[in-house]
Amino acid sequence: MINEKVNNCCCCGETESPNKVENANTCPVCKTSGVKVKNITVRHLVIDTLTELVGDMDYYICVNEECDIVYYNPESGVKFDKQQVKVPIWFKKDANPKYACYCSKVTEEQVIDAVIKDGAKTVMDIIEITGAMKNSQCEKNNPLGKCCHKIIQEAIDKGLSMK
Ligand SMILES: [Zn+2]
Repeated sequence: MINEKVNNCCCCGETESPNKVENANTCPVCKTSGVKVKNITVRHLVIDTLTELVGDMDYYICVNEECDIVYYNPESGVKFDKQQVKVPIWFKKDANPKYACYCSKVTEEQVIDAVIKDGAKTVMDIIEITGAMKNSQCEKNNPLGKCCHKIIQEAIDKGLSMK
């Protein structure tokens, strides 16, 4: 868990885990429980030709790395797969590039590099070195519609463990 405060974080105080699993909202393809994502996020990330299909509903995101489905709405049956979303979903298999921060387009690799080569240890260090989280609009840019703070922290941990 992350307790330190990051001032330019767009969602300080957020306590909900991005991996929180909700019941009864399983992916239509792989049957894994999904995580709720706001309409504004889905609308912004689905390819332009499909924006109309999005409607005004909220969606769930499939967190199964093996599954091609990204967003789905269990009531309407509308679903979007990896090819129908503009950005690679970092936790899905073969995501390339693997973004840690979608707003500033900083990859997991860049974060790990900053840890190994520049000695970064905290999210603040990463912000300084890579420019991550500089123009935070996670609600629109991050596929979960949530702050990338936790993803960056996970990448730092990964980098530290490789040292
Ligand atoms: Zn799935």
